[in-house]
Amino acid sequence: KSGGRGRSQLFHAQMDIDYHYRQRLKADLRDAVADGELSLAFQPLFDIDTRRVVSCEALARWNHAELGPVPPATFIPLAEEMGLISDITAWVVKNAARECSQWPGAVGVAVNVSARDFRGLDLPELIDAALVDSALPAARFEIEVTETAVIEERELANRTLKTLADKGIAIALDDFGTGYSSLSYLNALPFTKLKIDRSFLVDIATKPRALRLLASVARLGRDLDLTVVAEGVETEAQLEAMVAHTLVQQVQGYHFSRPLPARDISELIARFNS
Ligand code: C2E
Ligand code: CA
Ligand code: CA
Ligand code: CA
Repeated sequence: KSGGRGRSQLFHAQMDIDYHYRQRLKADLRDAVADGELSLAFQPLFDIDTRRVVSCEALARWNHAELGPVPPATFIPLAEEMGLISDITAWVVKNAARECSQWPGAVGVAVNVSARDFRGLDLPELIDAALVDSALPAARFEIEVTETAVIEERELANRTLKTLADKGIAIALDDFGTGYSSLSYLNALPFTKLKIDRSFLVDIATKPRALRLLASVARLGRDLDLTVVAEGVETEAQLEAMVAHTLVQQVQGYHFSRPLPARDISELIARFNS
């Protein structure tokens, strides 16, 4: 047990920091949402053949006045716990639609939706209002949901997603291959797009088995008439492997672009799509 004691003290010190950090964030999140301290970043999705931007994913950002940037992986779960996620989603939907209406061409926008939003919001009404407000056609609006979200609110999610799909809004299954991965959901719910989680891409440039696994997940999506997206493309080698061997139609990742502030995204779209 050498060094066990020091390590455990360190461990507890870290837990204290985490605890106090989270308490501080909890205390400040409500005001941050109300006072407009959140902003949006946009990350483009590209057509793998044409290399044009087809849509951009809206990602929430919180720049805390004293603590600096807080990752969404930290504050979104806090917002869910605190019952604030509906306010955030409503704000994201409205502002994502507004930004998108300013972009060149017919580039779409995708918004992430939480399990709680199915209960806390009237998503079809909210999205309708945002589309009217920014004169954006439904065909340019997309939502992303995880398997976990859909499972948590099965009945309600099913009904809501069908209503949205009937309006022509694309529905992406996010982080596919993580979570419960019950394949039966692919048919039971009106998904139009499959976003394969980036964990499937990590080794594809070096391990043939990893590439074959990605290819068969992509094939599954294609066989079900879904648009297949690979998330988290970080290297040219990963991209080349996919171009040569898989059925992925769209790609997203740091190799192409990090999420960008709203003011920079129009220029990026213009650069790639002209
Ligand atoms: P996500 O929906 O899976 O979003 C993709 C995340 O992967 C983003 O992290 C993005 O910056 C990151 N990413 C993109 N390309 C790469 C890459 O090539 N390599 C790596 N390592 N990462 C990449 P981000 O912005 O920190 O968001 C994390 C998660 O927070 C999102 O995962 C989503 O689940 C959640 N989130 C963000 N914004 C919102 C929001 O407005 N509403 C809800 N409900 N959740 C949100
Ligand atoms: Ca997403
Ligand atoms: Ca994802
Ligand atoms: Ca994720």
